[in-house]
Amino acid sequence: MRKKREVIPQPRSRFLKVQCTDCGAENIVFDRASTTVKCYICGKVLAEPRGGKALLLVKKENVIQILS
Ligand SMILES: [Zn+2]
Repeated sequence: MRKKREVIPQPRSRFLKVQCTDCGAENIVFDRASTTVKCYICGKVLAEPRGGKALLLVKKENVIQILS
């Protein structure tokens, strides 16, 4: 089984508005998060730290908005 990866390339750090795939709650995720980011409602892991850049674990359509 291949691990699914969704990395949005962007040199600058940003905040992303991400919809939880399990409960639909909107979470704000820092794209350079140094800790695991979990949904504040259900606790689903939304992003994991990867060498200074967060790896988003949701699909691209679940990224609602990019906040700069
Ligand atoms: Zn959730």
